[in-house]
Amino acid sequence: MVATSPITAQPDSPEARRYNRIKRWLGIADFVVGFGLLIVLLVTGLTGNLRDLAYQLGRQYYTVSLILYVVMLMLLTKVIGIGLEYYGFRLEHNYRLSNQKLTGWLWDQVKGFLVSVILASIVAVILYSILRQYAQHWWLLSWAVFLGLFVLMAQIAPVVLFPIFYKFEPLQNDDLKARLVRLSEKAGTRVRGVYKWKLSEKSNKANAALTGLGATRRIILADTLLDNYSPEEIEAVLAHELGHHVHRHILKSIGVQAVVTLIGFWAANLVLHVAVDRWHVFETLSDFANMPLLILVATLMSLLLMPALNAYSRFNERQADRYAFRSISTVTPFISSMNKLASQNLAERTPSKLVEWLFHSHPSISRRVQAAEAWNKAVARS
Ligand SMILES: [Zn+2]
Repeated sequence: MVATSPITAQPDSPEARRYNRIKRWLGIADFVVGFGLLIVLLVTGLTGNLRDLAYQLGRQYYTVSLILYVVMLMLLTKVIGIGLEYYGFRLEHNYRLSNQKLTGWLWDQVKGFLVSVILASIVAVILYSILRQYAQHWWLLSWAVFLGLFVLMAQIAPVVLFPIFYKFEPLQNDDLKARLVRLSEKAGTRVRGVYKWKLSEKSNKANAALTGLGATRRIILADTLLDNYSPEEIEAVLAHELGHHVHRHILKSIGVQAVVTLIGFWAANLVLHVAVDRWHVFETLSDFANMPLLILVATLMSLLLMPALNAYSRFNERQADRYAFRSISTVTPFISSMNKLASQNLAERTPSKLVEWLFHSHPSISRRVQAAEAWNKAVARS
């Protein structure tokens, strides 16, 4: 009998339903377009033309040509996908979830493109030099290198990547800092920093996260949250993020990624050998025209594993929530922060089971509120 509670009884507005349905279809369309492009490149042999052009422009130097191929492939993907991205930008405006100017959005697109070209080029150069030199064990070696890259990226992301798109500054609020210190002491741990994340320039949605590894470990709180939530509600959010820290969720997620990537590389090796040895589509393993095939394997892997990885993420979220329930004196501000978040972000409080199972990295708001209320009752009884 949860529906009798005035807090959980809030139903989803038709607006929230519509917004989330469009967003889901947008995500699916984006995936189909990307997937379709890979298939077209491979089936029509266009990837071979692109490679030849890259060699021509790169004066036959392997590494230069490889980077040029990556740039052309990414340009092609961007041009084909930009319409859907612009639609997504308009969607946020139509639902009053963003005030970002078109120029700001375009600049973000340019920056995002450049950052991904640089990262993708580094990854491609490493991957294909391993493929050239260690054809037999390339997938194991590449996996080991990727593992190192994951750890490195998790470490530098908060200080190098995020600041390219958002401004951050150390939290100045003494009351909140004191609350965090108290929470940390209870947990017997220490998060080095709490940062104000200036999200309001791009979105009206509220958010918070635990990021970084080791020295860069920090909690980031969006200004859209800091400005609109009570100190008790922000404390509840902080406690949840601290829960991720205490339960080592970032490290564990890297561990899960490691297993997934190992299977991915193993599958890529199989597929690549079939394409080269049996179908003779590519002359060698290191012919970088086979890149769309590698991306295709990775895409299929992530599609197949999406429900499992989302289930794992929801498990972690529930664990962080329970940690928050234990740490704060009452769960009431947790419940009110959840309801505020749902309204502000136009989130569906009660998505269908299938949608939650397939797409959601977090349990639905209604489930999180129910868990808090159940906790409250259990505490009251004991
Ligand atoms: Zn979380």
